[in-house]
Amino acid sequence: MTTPTRTSNRPKRGEGQWALGYREPLNPNERMKKDSDGLEVRQRIIDIYSKSGFDSIDPGDLRGRMRWMGLYTQRAQGIPGGKTAVLEPEELEDKYFMMRARIDGGQLTSDALRVIGGISTDFGRDVADVTDRQNVQYHWIRIEDVPEIWRRLESVGLSTMEACGDVPRVMLGCPLAGILEDEILDATDVIAETVAKYVGNPEFSNLPRKWKTSMSGCVDHCTEPEIDDVSFVGVVNEAGEAGYDLWVGGGLSTNPMFAQRVGVFVRPDQVTEVWAACTSVFRDYGYRRQRNRARIKFLIADWGPEKFRQVLQDEYLHAALPDGPAPAPAKHDQRDHVGVSRQKDGLNAVGFALRTGRITGSLLTTIANLADEYGQGRIRTTTQQKLVILDVPDEKVEALVAALAEHDLQVRPSAFRRGTMACTGLEFCKLAIVETKQHAQDLYAELEKRLPDFDVPIGINVNGCPNSCARFQTADIGFKGSMVKDDNGEMVEGFQVHLGGHLGVEATFGRKFRGHKVTKAETADYCERVLRGFLDRRTPGESFAH
Ligand code: SF4
Repeated sequence: MTTPTRTSNRPKRGEGQWALGYREPLNPNERMKKDSDGLEVRQRIIDIYSKSGFDSIDPGDLRGRMRWMGLYTQRAQGIPGGKTAVLEPEELEDKYFMMRARIDGGQLTSDALRVIGGISTDFGRDVADVTDRQNVQYHWIRIEDVPEIWRRLESVGLSTMEACGDVPRVMLGCPLAGILEDEILDATDVIAETVAKYVGNPEFSNLPRKWKTSMSGCVDHCTEPEIDDVSFVGVVNEAGEAGYDLWVGGGLSTNPMFAQRVGVFVRPDQVTEVWAACTSVFRDYGYRRQRNRARIKFLIADWGPEKFRQVLQDEYLHAALPDGPAPAPAKHDQRDHVGVSRQKDGLNAVGFALRTGRITGSLLTTIANLADEYGQGRIRTTTQQKLVILDVPDEKVEALVAALAEHDLQVRPSAFRRGTMACTGLEFCKLAIVETKQHAQDLYAELEKRLPDFDVPIGINVNGCPNSCARFQTADIGFKGSMVKDDNGEMVEGFQVHLGGHLGVEATFGRKFRGHKVTKAETADYCERVLRGFLDRRTPGESFAH
């Protein structure tokens, strides 16, 4: 007879699921959300805080509900990474905000991009970041300027509503949706319908944690559905009908997990309803007791996709969805839409690399003007911190490539520049341990010098802490910020290295090797060693990832 383990007969401790009766807030975050819905902060910003200034902001709003309006307090300048964990929040922050404007599906007009650029120039010290979730993030924002920023954004159909917080964040879509010949279907309308109906809707303004969505029929899976909380992935069923395969439970941060297929086929006209039902399952059954278990990936890990499907159908949709096929693997390894792509109408989409997403507001305005001059005023953001100008006729492509290059915006960047991403990092992020944006730019520039002929795609993702906003686990070479010992035994900024992560067929998270820690000063040497080793050993046609 085997002896039962100590915990095997105990009832499982509640995880704070509303559907099981755990309605009393179980931690300060849940208390904050119950005390006042996050959406209510908008009116207080307009009526009180923007008029009375930073010091008038209620602490629960300042470090909690402001996020529902896309606002985070900004890291105070000059505080080193080693202090991040030991200082109180008020010691870490200054009186400015980071502000995120959501760009659902990455779709912008030139007028909208001029407004985005103008806001950065007028209110954000001319700094902006194009993020890896198709948003634009500002820094140096004063609370006094927020109502005017909102007025400008709303004049072009944009907002900061639910850009952060425990809510439905920006919904990712393929930047070339509706444009490429080989796409499975165009998700533009289903994104727009879902956003219009549910963003800013109190029905979903108190979720257990963030809720990341993608909806796309891109053959390259450019929205990276493997790591979103809920994804609608384009497929064609046996009857030849285009629709979506539903995936749930992806996410990175400290416990990375890949999304799992639920196994159902969702018609385009059902997407908004099915999305709302998935979101309701997360709201009602998601774990709320511990913040670090409050993403849906933990629920899916416990339930499995079969139980999720059963609850979704029985309790929320009240109907069964048909079984559906798995999507075809991504057609291309690189999912960034950089370069010149032929549109189905014979025009061209011209995608280009910024410098790890960092840009000025003035340059965003210039890009908007170039989109008018060379295209038809349509611009897209990608999930790789890049931009795409659409509708460029053949005879104007090279002139646009040259005009962009004048501003160091590269349509044909080196493998290193193309494949390097960086999160916000120590410059502005209160959670950061390491500076990232400038370091990543210096790193790709150095690798361009040392390995000028490197000719295969390579992903190098630089992150300032374990939260993995720039996805260190899915890069060929992923850097996770931490304090490390240098040769003199001093603790300095550095990185834990994760090697060999990739998405797609045989998706795998990068492996953390014992001892693979480098100081910032050693990162270029480290990358060079790894990449030269690959060049020496590779077989003809071999990519770095496989
Ligand atoms: Fe900040 Fe960490 Fe996210 Fe970088 S990974 S932006 S340092 S929370």
